[in-house]
Amino acid sequence: MEIGQQRQALLRWYQTTARELPWRSHPEPWRVMVSEFMLQQTQVKTVLPRYEPFLERFPSPQAMVDAGEEAVISAWAGLGYYRRARALFAAASAVVDRHQGVVPNDLDALRALPGVGAYTSAAIASIGFGVAAAVVDGNVERVLARLRSMHEPVRKAAGRRAIQRLADEFLNPSDPGDHNQAMMELGARVCRPKRADCLICPLQTACSGQQDWAALPVLPERKKAVPKQVEQRLFLIDAHGHTVWRRRPADGLYSNLPDLLELAVGESAALYGEVTARKTTTQRLSHRELEIEALRIDVDGLPSGYHTGPVGAFLAEGPPTPVARLVRQLASDLEVG
Ligand code: SF4
Repeated sequence: MEIGQQRQALLRWYQTTARELPWRSHPEPWRVMVSEFMLQQTQVKTVLPRYEPFLERFPSPQAMVDAGEEAVISAWAGLGYYRRARALFAAASAVVDRHQGVVPNDLDALRALPGVGAYTSAAIASIGFGVAAAVVDGNVERVLARLRSMHEPVRKAAGRRAIQRLADEFLNPSDPGDHNQAMMELGARVCRPKRADCLICPLQTACSGQQDWAALPVLPERKKAVPKQVEQRLFLIDAHGHTVWRRRPADGLYSNLPDLLELAVGESAALYGEVTARKTTTQRLSHRELEIEALRIDVDGLPSGYHTGPVGAFLAEGPPTPVARLVRQLASDLEVG
């Protein structure tokens, strides 16, 4: 199946099976723009009952600007993520200010509107104006990676460029709007993340990745959650600006290094006095993340049985780097040294 036949097969499938959606039957640019803002992070079934009433209230960018941002936010009720309502109002205002109230058909001008990125600008341009701009979203990315058997990780910069290239090559120049919607629809209904229904796919005979669709697209490995350990150190300071430290055990992390006293698990810092300042630092170790919090407490006398002396003397002994950093911060904040 050559590429022209693939495009035709996809288009035929879309035109005979696509869901009827109001922004598809009347794809005027402003209507498409509103639908794209509404559909970000929101399901079609949530948008459907609110779409036409919203457009009756704001039939054009100028009508939206005249109504004001608060009216847009209140009409957005039920759609969630109100940041999008504010972004849509800002985009409508920019259309009025920069383009005399007419949604521009130029990709760069669309991308310059607030809240409009690469995906939304290509969707508005292709669906609303028939501009040959390929849309790439998660669905399109998946279909293309499988269709062309792309084994490069799609979320890395090179992978993104490769997917965009494939999308540009595959785009149907005579009907880019329907082509883009067909690709998104195919990804949503047939070539799904965990189940590809290859037997009913219009691109089956052209698809080189259908044998290993489950392994495609290649996504970045999920980072394993790193266990976190939290420790607290006591930065006790007496009236002379002296502090107290001890040497760590010969085994374990930071072995033999001088260190502040550690607060035992369940022990309260209040036993030593009032905490007047605290600083936290995090260190990534081989299999865990260590968060150290140092608590500055002003005391009348320092506990015995440990090393005591000026803060500078403690730092000169060479404590673990994160502890030294915390002590320097707490000491300089409070002009102790
Ligand atoms: S044939 Fe299967 S893997 Fe290939 S695009 Fe169609 S549904 Fe996806």
